[in-house]
Amino acid sequence: MSTLSPEFLQILAGTLSEEGVGQWLASLDAPAPVSIRFNPYKVTQKPEGENVPWSRYGFYLPDRPVFTADPRLHGGAYYVQEASSMFLEQLFTQLFPEPGRMKILDLCAAPGGKTTHLSVLAGLESLVVANEVIRTRANILSENVQKWGLGNVAVTSNDPERFGKHLRGFFDLVVVDAPCSGEGMFRKSPDCRNEWTPNHVHLCASRQQRILADAWDALKEDGILVYSTCTYNPQENEENVRWMTETFDCEGVSIETDPGWGLVRGAVQDIQTFRFFPHLVRGEGFFAAVLRKVGKVKKETRLKVRKAVLTDLSKSQFEILAPWINQSGLMHFAALNGQRIFGYYARHRELVNALAEVLTVLYSGVEVGQIMGKKLKPEHALAVFHDVSHRVVPLASLDREEALRFLRKEEVDPQRLTEGINLVTFQGLPLGWIKRIGHRANNLYPKDWRILHV
Ligand code: SAM
Repeated sequence: MSTLSPEFLQILAGTLSEEGVGQWLASLDAPAPVSIRFNPYKVTQKPEGENVPWSRYGFYLPDRPVFTADPRLHGGAYYVQEASSMFLEQLFTQLFPEPGRMKILDLCAAPGGKTTHLSVLAGLESLVVANEVIRTRANILSENVQKWGLGNVAVTSNDPERFGKHLRGFFDLVVVDAPCSGEGMFRKSPDCRNEWTPNHVHLCASRQQRILADAWDALKEDGILVYSTCTYNPQENEENVRWMTETFDCEGVSIETDPGWGLVRGAVQDIQTFRFFPHLVRGEGFFAAVLRKVGKVKKETRLKVRKAVLTDLSKSQFEILAPWINQSGLMHFAALNGQRIFGYYARHRELVNALAEVLTVLYSGVEVGQIMGKKLKPEHALAVFHDVSHRVVPLASLDREEALRFLRKEEVDPQRLTEGINLVTFQGLPLGWIKRIGHRANNLYPKDWRILHV
């Protein structure tokens, strides 16, 4: 069992009472609550169990199942997310009761907990730009975004500096869920305890200030910045908020919370802060603050498209792919480099074209497939898109064991399939494509996403 650094305990004692520290220490030995957030665009029946008090989509589970062995996870029916992090929903719904068409930046987004949540909260008309600077993590983010399947997210992989420089005054909301010293994860991940040093806290705090400064520049006038960490020390939390108030023109916004939730409210000047401690809430350690940008934005970015990477489809191409999406009339389709076809809501196509001028865009909208002759060769992302039609090709409804074979990219009994392309489903939820050619079944599940060890 790893031990806690005396310096850390001293900092904690500055935040909690003596009794609080004792209760906090005891909470480290208690089991961490298990929670999921369901995808309302794919699941009509809410999961059984107790609601996370601050999120209507969040639910506690009685114990931790082997999530990888649940095909529904791979079909994007739910996301496994720590309950305190779901507090973003309270902030969002109170700030934006009618989101309309928003431009949202989730600046530190992998693996995608906040991104998938924001994509639901903001609705299909809004665009969530989900950025992750570390490329390998950005690929995981992209996978989770595709499985979630809403089609209103663009995944990018850039240093935050790029947003500050090239997208000034651009976003209505920027979420900085910052890389931090992770004290709030000491219960779930005891290894974090060994990595903790005062110097690491200091390094994290300076990095957070750099990220916050870039985030601030990317925010439009009156825009909202949500800053969160999963750590307790004031240096990375309140002191950074204080630094924001001293460096930028900002003001607080009012957020209501229920005293029964157990979170600890505070303030830095007029900026409200919210702290989550595992001995007081059913969740892990978390910190959040919300700031509104005031004052004029100098030299707001007006993006110009010099060379569109996405080009419109012809009418006959549209007619080939339209039947594959129920409400295809709500979408605009475009081809990337003339080949790979993507679908977008609410003219996000123009926005993504413009963003591609200044950012590395890894994925956006929903990748539909490629047109070969007069047919669509469907892409995996289309199978797990929330609005994929179940009527274009036959459905192959698999039981749990067969669905797991499919997800491991193993052979599936061709007798269960109709000749040609089939949409594989588990309990009515699409999981991917499979093609029967006579006595063979060609499993089209993406190789890099196949599940191992189950
Ligand atoms: N928001 C994510 C979610 O809800 O699933 C969790 C984000 S995690 C707390 C912080 C992320 O910041 C990590 O994915 C990490 O790779 C990324 N990161 C690391 N260094 C960074 C930097 N200098 N600028 C921006 N992001 C960074």
